[in-house]
Amino acid sequence: MHDVVIVGAGPVGLFLACELGLAGCSVLVLEREPQGRSPLKAKPLGLRGLSAASVEGFYRRGMLDDLVAASGTHEVFGPVAGPGTSPGADTPGAPRAGGHFAGMLLDPAKVDVTALPFWLPSPAPLRMPTDLEAVETLLAERAARLGVEVRYGVAVSGLTQDDEGVVARAGEDEYAARWLVGCDGGRSTVRGLAGFEFAGTGPQLTGYVLEGTIADSEELSFGFVPTPRGMYLRLGQGYIAMMDFDGGAFDRSRPPTRDHLQEVLRRISGTDVTLSDVRLASSFTDRSMQVPSYRRGRVLLAGDAAHIHSPLGGQGLNLGIGDAMNLGWKLAATVRKDAPDGLLDTYSAERHPVGAAVLDWSRAQVAVMRPGPIGQALKGVVRDLIGTGDGTAYVFTRLSGTWVRYDLGDEHPLAGRSVPDFRLKDGRHIGDLLRDGRAVALDFSTDHRLSGSAKDREGRIRYVTGPVDDDLGLGAVLVRPDGVVAWAGERVPDPVAFERAADRWLGGPEI
Ligand SMILES: Cc1cc2nc3c(=O)[nH]c(=O)nc-3n(C[C@H](O)[C@H](O)[C@H](O)COP(=O)(O)OP(=O)(O)OC[C@H]3O[C@@H](n4cnc5c(N)ncnc54)[C@H](O)[C@@H]3O)c2cc1C
Repeated sequence: MHDVVIVGAGPVGLFLACELGLAGCSVLVLEREPQGRSPLKAKPLGLRGLSAASVEGFYRRGMLDDLVAASGTHEVFGPVAGPGTSPGADTPGAPRAGGHFAGMLLDPAKVDVTALPFWLPSPAPLRMPTDLEAVETLLAERAARLGVEVRYGVAVSGLTQDDEGVVARAGEDEYAARWLVGCDGGRSTVRGLAGFEFAGTGPQLTGYVLEGTIADSEELSFGFVPTPRGMYLRLGQGYIAMMDFDGGAFDRSRPPTRDHLQEVLRRISGTDVTLSDVRLASSFTDRSMQVPSYRRGRVLLAGDAAHIHSPLGGQGLNLGIGDAMNLGWKLAATVRKDAPDGLLDTYSAERHPVGAAVLDWSRAQVAVMRPGPIGQALKGVVRDLIGTGDGTAYVFTRLSGTWVRYDLGDEHPLAGRSVPDFRLKDGRHIGDLLRDGRAVALDFSTDHRLSGSAKDREGRIRYVTGPVDDDLGLGAVLVRPDGVVAWAGERVPDPVAFERAADRWLGGPEI
């Protein structure tokens, strides 16, 4: 019996598999498709934007250089790498990596990263483009190195659970584990089999992405183009996306034909444009739904299996990577039986509100994009607000994921946030210290008074001392394995408070 079976070898399932493998769990991933690759995952249709929060996840596990190399781009956005541009931005009018809200571009020059909450310079860029193929290949290779087995061509169609474990079924075959995580995407089979509710709002639009050739290229502009009938987006490499406010009427059981795509493109753009060739196309809607809790007994959900929404603003992958990072160490501690009481349930408690906020973010964009005078009026107001410094900061904080702060019941403003990338005088960043998946106690107080209690837990906490370049007025931090600050100590840190936080998140002293 495995410790954990993960259903779905998409980016979220593979990220979670790596987290569990790193923590020493035995993990089996079951993937329906006979092979991981699909043309829809490669550029240009597989293009995805990673937020600061996701990039940090790769950085903190030592994968940043490989991610940048696999993504085939150095076009990142951030003060370290220097402001860059999105893929296709070599094309006039293409959106820049400051991001957008409902197609309204942020001006990267107005983004003041130093004003982000508790920001410190870091090798991890604040946003970067990648593609699903690059992410999945990188993660699949890492998972294999960590001893994770991925079986392709196994479609899970049945599931039972009791107090001891879970059995997944695929045809005649059975796969038993102590825990099962459904990472099987927006149409999740696991979600239905385990009896999760799934509620939210219905579609207002059908969206399309296609890779093709336009016979009369001058007919369409580049970048986001709102029109009285919807919106289209044109990038380089023949990439076109369209939002058609048809109430989600298109039958998505079949891929859209060239004739249909051309009809929609002509109607939205108000031109006679001709799509001479469509090499690849797919459709989506803005249906927004979420499960009320991410756990039912021994079955958990992560990624699109737990929440779906429109891809506007590029948030779904980022949300899923955040789920995987949050769940991995908690489930691993539960498997090892050294998790403090209630630890696993903090996964849903922390991630559900983040998912709900992202669903609302995507709904708000659809409302602003609605064709007609009401949508236009709303858009005018939002455009004015986004043009202000505070408006830019607000939207950028949302897009980069730096707004996320879990409610840990600790009033310190840093508790529950992603840890700033403190840099020790010897050059190591805290991002480097998190590589092995253990928590980190970084004690930069002068008398290292936390050493006793940290060393009592050294299997779970890596204790590091030494002065840092910028201490942000603090003396120590306890950082969970997912990079979230569990506790922040003043210049003279209180060892009792540290111990309380260590007990709560990582368990008591080791015997
Ligand atoms: C056009 C578009 C653009 C987007 N752009 C962005 C972006 O810029 N940034 C961003 O963050 N997000 C973006 N997203 C969203 C993002 O792609 C998804 O949120 C993300 O891929 C979800 O990952 P996942 O692993 O949860 O699910 P998936 O990628 O759907 O993977 C699920 C896996 O489970 C497998 N599976 C399904 N059922 C079974 C079964 N019964 N048994 C075994 N295996 C099964 C599937 O074959 C699949 O491999 C975009 C989405 C679209 C459509």
